[in-house]
Amino acid sequence: MVNTTIKTTKSQEIFAAAQNLMPGGVNSPVRAFKSVGGQPIVFDRVKGAYIWDVDGNEYIDYVGTWGPAICGHANPEVITALHSALEKGTSFGAPSVLENVLAEMVIDAVPSIEMVRFVNSGTEACMAVLRLMRAFTKRDKIIKFEGCYHGHADMFLVKAGSGVATLGLPDSPGVPKSVTRDTLTAPFNDLEAVKLLFEENRDQIAGVILEPVVGNAGFVTPDAGFLEGLREITHEHGALLVFDEVMTGFRISYGGAQEKFGVTPDLTTLGKIIGGGLPVGAYGGRKDIMSMVAPAGPMYQAGTLSGNPLAMTAGIKTLELLQKPGTYDYLERITKKLADGLLQVALDTGHAACGGNISGMFGMFFTSGPVHNYEDAKASDTAKFGRFHRGMLEHGIYLAPSQFEAGFTSIAHTEEDIERTLQAARDVMSGL
Ligand SMILES: *Cc1c(COP(=O)(O)O)cnc(C)c1O
Repeated sequence: MVNTTIKTTKSQEIFAAAQNLMPGGVNSPVRAFKSVGGQPIVFDRVKGAYIWDVDGNEYIDYVGTWGPAICGHANPEVITALHSALEKGTSFGAPSVLENVLAEMVIDAVPSIEMVRFVNSGTEACMAVLRLMRAFTKRDKIIKFEGCYHGHADMFLVKAGSGVATLGLPDSPGVPKSVTRDTLTAPFNDLEAVKLLFEENRDQIAGVILEPVVGNAGFVTPDAGFLEGLREITHEHGALLVFDEVMTGFRISYGGAQEKFGVTPDLTTLGKIIGGGLPVGAYGGRKDIMSMVAPAGPMYQAGTLSGNPLAMTAGIKTLELLQKPGTYDYLERITKKLADGLLQVALDTGHAACGGNISGMFGMFFTSGPVHNYEDAKASDTAKFGRFHRGMLEHGIYLAPSQFEAGFTSIAHTEEDIERTLQAARDVMSGL
């Protein structure tokens, strides 16, 4: 499909040149717009709730660099803090007090975390937490859920969401069977399936890892009792419960999904928001488990740039801004207005749709639903979503370029931004 209403000559030139330089022209697959058709736009700069492409077009952004930009892009206070940190150097490779500050903030905020280790990405955090689950329990098998994404490490590339779902890839080539043999999968929201796996693999399962609210298969919420059920089953079998809150941490409430739903896992992974837009990940949890991590204990895990002073600075400032009273009420209000509004527009224009939001995270599927798991999500009309996505882009609205990704708002989005977005959605859906 070709853009009709916006000029994107420069974007097209740059993306064409990128094709010969990087696989698919990108450094992360979903950015290539393959599942929605058409060419991606190439960014020039970002500020607040807006992005500008290299051709000078302005868009209201609902991707927020995939979650981190919860305080708005290039937040002036984060930028100022980064400027002063920059003067002191870009990397120490040695302890700094900034690490203590962010660690304390994370420990105070997230109920399960008594001790934390910083790494450089969500992928890295999930890899490390898996090793820790196995080291602590002396068991090898894990349970993950279909459509949940825990980064691109081999062991997790089994029925993974995000780009794997978007591109319809089977388990990736290059992942040895010997590595995924111990990765068991169940449908999200299916406690019976989990119970069965535990019975069939008695004393062999190290733990269960999940996105407590799924954002990598679209937006899927846990049914009442699901998280509590997992907490009970893992307890019963001496296994660990791990919440991958790389996306939901500091997003659906300050203390993440575990605070929102009142279920405390043993271990938690974080990323995205806690780096304030710089590369960061973290894993943490019960002190007795975290004490196994080197050099306190024998489980090896290290990182040249881990605890990087710039990343710590951006994270600290971002969390400080989020602590202001009313932040999550505001996110809830504008995001609900958007999510409900989109469903109303779909209803008015005769399109089957379902979706919702929790605080600043939302989603909409082109299917009547309800969507309880990845199988349900796959029933949505992805071709229609592709046309909707392109139409919204041409109306100056930047949505995640896949039916299987959640959307994000920030404290920089205004009621007026939401109203403009809903008007655009009405124009686009009327013509679908
Ligand atoms: C983004 C994400 C990851 C991977 O984080 P990266 O920083 O992209 O490696 C892992 N788990 C979840 C739930 C995510 O949303």
